Formats: sequence, C-alpha cells, structure tokens
Amino acid sequence: MSKGRLIVISGFSGAGKGTVVKRLVEKYNYSLSISATTRAPRDGEQDGREYYFKTVDEFKSLIDYNGFIEWAQYVENYYGTPRKFVEDEIAAGKNVILEIEVQGAMNIKAQYPNAILIFITTKDIDTLKARLTGRGSETEEVIAKRMARAAEEAESMESYEFIVVNDELEQCVDAVNSIVVSESCRKTNNTEFLIDIKNQFDDIKG
Ligand code: 5GP
Repeated sequence: MSKGRLIVISGFSGAGKGTVVKRLVEKYNYSLSISATTRAPRDGEQDGREYYFKTVDEFKSLIDYNGFIEWAQYVENYYGTPRKFVEDEIAAGKNVILEIEVQGAMNIKAQYPNAILIFITTKDIDTLKARLTGRGSETEEVIAKRMARAAEEAESMESYEFIVVNDELEQCVDAVNSIVVSESCRKTNNTEFLIDIKNQFDDIKG
C-alpha cells in the first residue's frame, strides 16, 4: 500500500484554519493530528478533541522521550505534534493534516520532504483583525501579540508551496483538496506505478 502524506496547514491566527481543517476531515476524510499544548483550554475546548492539554513539565518530558515529530513555542506556550499517531496513520496510507505554525512547518519539511505545505490567509489585514476581535475570547493584549506574530508570519508565507485565501469556506476547502489530489498525480510521486505499468507492457511485447 502506498504511504500517506503529511499536509501541513498554517496561516494567521484568525484566518479560519480550524474551520477549514474541520471541513476537510468531514468532506474528504483526511486524518487530523491532535497536538499537545501547554496553553489553557478555551471555552468549549475538550482535552483530546482540540488538543491534549499538558503542564509544562509533562510537555518537557514528552520532548525528552522523543514523543513529538516537531514542537515549537508560540506566544509563550508550547505546541507539539505527537509522533505515534502520525507515523501509524502514514504507514496505513492515510493523508494526515497538521495544523501548525511556521517554525513547526519548516521543521516538518526538513524531515519529510514529501510534505505539502499550504498557507491559509484572509484576503486582507482588516479582515484578519476583525475576525480576531470578533472571536471575543482573547484580551486586547493577546490580540495585539497575535497581530504582531501575524506580521512575522507574513514574512514566512514565501516558504510555503501553496497559498489559499479563505474568503468563501467551501471554495477554500475544495482548493486545498485539489492541491493534495494534484500532488498525488505528480509523476515523481508515482515512480513505482510507472515502473509497474512499463513492466506490464514489456510482458506484452514479450
Ligand atoms: P491556538 O492557541 O490558537 O490554538 O494555536 C496557536 C498556534 O499554534 C496556531 O498557529 C496553531 O496552528 C499552532 N499549533 C497548534 N498545534 C501545533 C503543533 O503541534 N506544533 C506547532 N509547531 N504549532 C502548533
């Protein structure tokens, strides 16, 4: 069976990545990696559903045990992608989505050159600010920090292979899926298949 791939989805906080990812899982059956984090749960978030919520000590011992394929610090908290789930799903031929920030994305690309890196953005900065403010769950200070971080992340957008604007949700979801489908058709991702077909013709030619 062919191996699954990692699809890294990054984007500004407030660009609606979470909703896009949820729809990709529902509509196209992607597997979603659940990260560990040391940040406090937001209202309505459940341990094991949005994140595995950990203390700093727990998180650090997971780092020591090589429990993450990548981890990073983001706005004073730690975030990491648990190793076992990702490795098992890839081995089972599933495409796995990692919704992670820029440092983690670069780390993944270095380890898994075959990973597909996609950056999700709003159509402009005003829309981003409005979405962050409208969420209502963050203090002014956190919003200001996230806008500053977004400005930094804008610099890294160029490191991504694909940029998708999230203006209309379903269009954005379909665009992301199309990217993954196209990548799976790329010649260099089908070398074994090509050899196999050639061999079959060789048999006919005798
Ligand atoms: P939030 O606190 O808003 O849920 O997430 C903050 C940022 O951390 C987002 O950009 C999110 O994509 C990123 N993030 C979530 N999980 C991980 C992870 O496992 N690794 C890395 N590097 N970033 C993550």
